[in-house]
Amino acid sequence: MYHHVKALMYTVRIGQPDPQFGNMLLEQFGGANGELAAAMQYSIQGLNCTDPARKDMLMDIGTEELSHLEIIGTLARMHLKPTRKNRTAAEADPLIAIAGGGGVALCNSQGAPWTADYLKITGELDVDLRSDIAAEARAKIVYERLINFCDDAGTKDALQFLMTREITHLKAFMAALESLGKDPLQIGSIPPSPEIVNQYFNDSTGEGEDGDIDTRGPWNEGEGIKFVEAPSTPIAEATEEEVRQEIQHTVGRGHRSVASQTEPRSKRIR
Ligand code: MN
Ligand code: MN
Repeated sequence: MYHHVKALMYTVRIGQPDPQFGNMLLEQFGGANGELAAAMQYSIQGLNCTDPARKDMLMDIGTEELSHLEIIGTLARMHLKPTRKNRTAAEADPLIAIAGGGGVALCNSQGAPWTADYLKITGELDVDLRSDIAAEARAKIVYERLINFCDDAGTKDALQFLMTREITHLKAFMAALESLGKDPLQIGSIPPSPEIVNQYFNDSTGEGEDGDIDTRGPWNEGEGIKFVEAPSTPIAEATEEEVRQEIQHTVGRGHRSVASQTEPRSKRIR
């Protein structure tokens, strides 16, 4: 059940309306990392969730995001209002000015309509929580950029509140994921193939003119990791039959046979 209370979760006051900044704010209203996307993602994950404790959290946070949508919508509306009548202001967002009469629409800052494609919902709780952690991190950085481009104290204050709440949610999602007690690499129930899972392919090699380096780090060295140097080099000079054998050897199981060629196919086979 949803109930609307005629008060904002956080009071919004602005100085001078800034239509161009109002247009930027739409990114958090109807954009990919915006408040509607967050509200829908968590609420619908909650509807699908069979774990009562985490479902409660998803519904709490999903509902709070709707309150954020109301705040950012109010803020954007204040800044976009002059686009209704003022030609110079209208140029900041012609779509809002002409089609929307200066009111906010569920579009991003470029006028692209909001889409359910923004939502990441898999029905697997730990996988969904990882998407939620990433979504909060994206929302946080977008708010930070908006704050950096803002010179109005009242607007900054509201954005600081919204940005802070994203970190609060990030903490909650991280704690919820942790509390499931799953090995972080255990996704679903089918285990990965043991002979393949620890191979690291050094597929980008050499050193670039701009200082690009070929490097080792915890991701390609350390316990159990087998570093495979430039695995495509022999493939690039091989016949298709040799490529087939190489793939079989690497993957460790049969593939459909490829017609044997004697000519090297270095350009085609990557
Ligand atoms: Mn939010
Ligand atoms: Mn959030």
